Amino acid sequence: MSKPSLWAVPLGGLGEFGMNMMALRYGEDFLAIDAGLMFPESELLGVDVVIPDITYLKQNRAGLRALLLTHAHEDHIGAVPYLLPDLNCPVYGTKFTLALVRKKLEEHGLLQTADLREIEPGKTISLGPFQVEFVYVTHSTIDCVALAIRTALGIIIHTGDFKIDPTPVDGIPFDLHRFARYGQEGVLALFADSTNAERPGFTPSERAVWVRLEELFRAAPQRVIVSCFSSSVHRIQQVIDIATAAGRKIGLVGRSMVDNTEIAHSLGKLRIPDGSVVRPQDIKSFDPRKLVVLASGSQAEPMSALSRIAVDNHRLLGIEENDTVILSARIIPGNEKAISRMIDHLFRRRVLVYYEGGRSAPIHVSGHGSQEEMKLLLNLVRPKYFIPIHGEYRQLFRHAALAHQVGCVSGEIMLIESGHPIEFTAAGAFRRDPVTVGRVCVDSGSLEELEEFVIRDRRHLAEDGVVVPIIAIDKHSGRIETSPEIVTRGFLPSEDGQELLALARDVVLKTVEQSNPEEKTDWSVIKEKIRTDLKRFLNKKTAKRPLILPVILEV
Ligand SMILES: [Zn+2]
Ligand SMILES: [Zn+2]
Repeated sequence: MSKPSLWAVPLGGLGEFGMNMMALRYGEDFLAIDAGLMFPESELLGVDVVIPDITYLKQNRAGLRALLLTHAHEDHIGAVPYLLPDLNCPVYGTKFTLALVRKKLEEHGLLQTADLREIEPGKTISLGPFQVEFVYVTHSTIDCVALAIRTALGIIIHTGDFKIDPTPVDGIPFDLHRFARYGQEGVLALFADSTNAERPGFTPSERAVWVRLEELFRAAPQRVIVSCFSSSVHRIQQVIDIATAAGRKIGLVGRSMVDNTEIAHSLGKLRIPDGSVVRPQDIKSFDPRKLVVLASGSQAEPMSALSRIAVDNHRLLGIEENDTVILSARIIPGNEKAISRMIDHLFRRRVLVYYEGGRSAPIHVSGHGSQEEMKLLLNLVRPKYFIPIHGEYRQLFRHAALAHQVGCVSGEIMLIESGHPIEFTAAGAFRRDPVTVGRVCVDSGSLEELEEFVIRDRRHLAEDGVVVPIIAIDKHSGRIETSPEIVTRGFLPSEDGQELLALARDVVLKTVEQSNPEEKTDWSVIKEKIRTDLKRFLNKKTAKRPLILPVILEV
């Protein structure tokens, strides 16, 4: 009898941004690697998150040994609470990764039933026919690992996300030696992060942001507000250290920023000097020359802390002329418009705004390796087969081209997309027929308050229908020109429908009236507010969760 073959099946993240997930199969045994989400594009208004379709794994659930998580970013763990009930398997991750997963599962009421198992970099575990070693890598968040998976057919290396940072903020170096050792032993296939395949050179060390941030903190005439991803623990550490050195205290604003710093601190992975954090209720009145605020919302998400601050509508913090706002994050493709609108709001208030670009020292550096780091890794690992992952098609393509240039792949460089399996046998590696993959849209309730989540598939849409509030707003005055109209499809069967719609119109009116002038003229913000309020209202009145798609007519 011949040996079983080894299959690698990418379920998301190849040829698209986000939603990273992959399955490995040997005989009847399966592993899943990461379960990420994708943030919906603006065309998908009415949907909060997008997760991968895991039909393939559901069909093979019985053989699923584990879900392995590489690190704590949303595009790697964001789908866990939505997929875990279907996967129903143990989840492995490092301390920080699991802490964030635990919080998500708790919010979804799934913590009781979840089987979370902590792993340590450098350690190996056995999962059926797979032996998995977790190899430490540096990235923009902490506690990140690559996976080296030993199988009967050879060793598979999956890098997760990585950069090769020679001077990491927490002092824990990228484990080059392990990769080199595997390279010497012989690696069947390398699956590597392609995010920055278009960038020449090396990505600067995370420490590179220190110089410019310090300069800005010291020069700032009033309060400083820094916005970065709340999982960017290295960045947060540096902001805290620089603020402390500059004689400023720290304020934390935004739910994810507060939660994540608390988690990282409690795990001993973030150093916060005693007495340096200002209580939330004291932020507003605190001497602005002695304050640095860390705020979430760098992507201008409509209900986020920074979006509210930008229109001076945050309960903990006002914004004034000569305050400094630093966007210490990259602009995720698709968010450009919202972010530039937010920057406009800030400049109108004569706030000093700093964002990526220009020729000065950086206020943000990427967490992903550039071309030279990719080449270095390829040189160390020297795989037989190389498969670029994590990237849009052009990034995968450029990564493949780099590998050709390096010339250290002895077998084949395989450019594939989500859903395209590769079968490894004793005879070689072969492309096989595509499996079902795709995007599933999820409505998780508003970002600020967590309601029970609902997967909005077609069946659900047919049950609860669609509600389209139409509002005509004067672009300049922000006044509502005519009474809002509400069009519904498949939502209202009963005769008290008219009454409910009248009440719903009032909800919309009230939402608009209670917004400030800048919010009223920022369509993305006002739409999100209407959607949130109307959803809460309709859900309370009817126990249904229709898809709500606000339309603003500009008059
Ligand atoms: Zn990623
Ligand atoms: Zn990442």
